[in-house]
Amino acid sequence: MLELSEQQELMRKVVRDFVEKEIAPIARQIDEEDTCPVELFQKMAPLGINGVFVPAKYGGAGLGFTEMVLVLEEIARHAAGLALGLVAHYMGVYAIMTWGSEEQKQKYLPRICSGGFSGLSITEPGGGSDFTGQKSTGQLVDGEWVLNGRKCFITNSHCMSVNVVTVRTGEDAKGRPQISAFIIEGDTPGHTPGRKEKKAGLRGSYTGEIILNNVRLSPDNLLGKPGDGAKISLGTLGEMGRTGTAAAALGILRGCLEESVKYAKERIIYGKPLSNLVNIQMIIAQNRTDYEAARLLTYNAAGLKDAGKPCAQEVSMAKFFATEASVKAAKRTMDLMGGYGVITDYPVSRFLRDAVATIPACGTSHIMQVIIAGAELRK
Ligand SMILES: Cc1cc2nc3c(=O)[nH]c(=O)nc-3n(C[C@H](O)[C@H](O)[C@H](O)COP(=O)(O)OP(=O)(O)OC[C@H]3O[C@@H](n4cnc5c(N)ncnc54)[C@H](O)[C@@H]3O)c2cc1C
Repeated sequence: MLELSEQQELMRKVVRDFVEKEIAPIARQIDEEDTCPVELFQKMAPLGINGVFVPAKYGGAGLGFTEMVLVLEEIARHAAGLALGLVAHYMGVYAIMTWGSEEQKQKYLPRICSGGFSGLSITEPGGGSDFTGQKSTGQLVDGEWVLNGRKCFITNSHCMSVNVVTVRTGEDAKGRPQISAFIIEGDTPGHTPGRKEKKAGLRGSYTGEIILNNVRLSPDNLLGKPGDGAKISLGTLGEMGRTGTAAAALGILRGCLEESVKYAKERIIYGKPLSNLVNIQMIIAQNRTDYEAARLLTYNAAGLKDAGKPCAQEVSMAKFFATEASVKAAKRTMDLMGGYGVITDYPVSRFLRDAVATIPACGTSHIMQVIIAGAELRK
């Protein structure tokens, strides 16, 4: 059984009220126009959303990852694309919070907890799953780091004020690429957004290229030590980004459940509510069960993270299950609605597009299964 504390329930209510007032009424418009409503991010900041797990001394709400899941579930219930923008923002925040020096934390965290966007730029055209295949470079020239290359599929690419970026900075003794992470301010000369992708789902968050063209950085912009890039980016993705993406899928699952119940009660066929049909009840039962299973997995992963326990396998299970289940639930809910399921006045066809797009974000289902099985086989 999963019970939230009184404080967590209060937080949920605050976020739900905000979402119902500010986000739900424009969720369809956000999807159709596919622009990121930056002003909503600024409105969320005073509620503590933007730095929910960041200590208060750096401008955050001083809460944890369970509260992060709660926030993302509420937002994704109506606007999963916006929730994805927040997941990417949280990745940049988390990387700086966890691996930044005291000076870096003081310099960047208050800014990005109070309305500025952050993000994490790892993926390159050559491949996202193949982490060591990245070709962007960083070279020390006259005491400055000079970065060149191109990142793709980067969420918040066109609205970031602080970007955490990985590049190759050399090779280790065995000839393997040495990857390092840097903090780059969005307006640094040479750091520019490139092509903006048109996504099938999760629209309303920018996903696009980041071009690095002779970006000159002081050694103070290095996050951790040279060679820490793998630890930082895989740690951020593995324990935080994937928990966040699972939470976004959880919001979609709740949307499917609530929409299926509402429609089944309101739609009258053969003179009776649709909910009288047993196949419709089965869809509702499946939606309820998938939501509950995803909820338990996701909050369990976040709880382990809050307790400082290893959770890579649990996070991967939550991400794998919640994202795949959200696709099935959206399809089932469309089936339940008959022809109305494909009419875009209803949100369910958007839920399907959003759900499908959660699968590659922060690592594909194949990669999640590789991690889950690997952890099991090592036991
Ligand atoms: C909406 C969205 C937002 C994103 N946001 C960001 C972001 O903010 N920052 C960022 O850096 N990246 C981001 N990404 C990129 C994302 O992390 C990659 O798309 C993902 O890691 C997959 O990489 P790829 O697209 O290059 O596919 P590939 O790695 O080319 O994979 C192709 C196929 O091969 C399979 N495969 C690959 N390796 C293995 C393996 N070892 N074993 C079995 N199968 C394998 C994959 O599962 C897939 O089916 C985002 C992607 C999306 C869709």
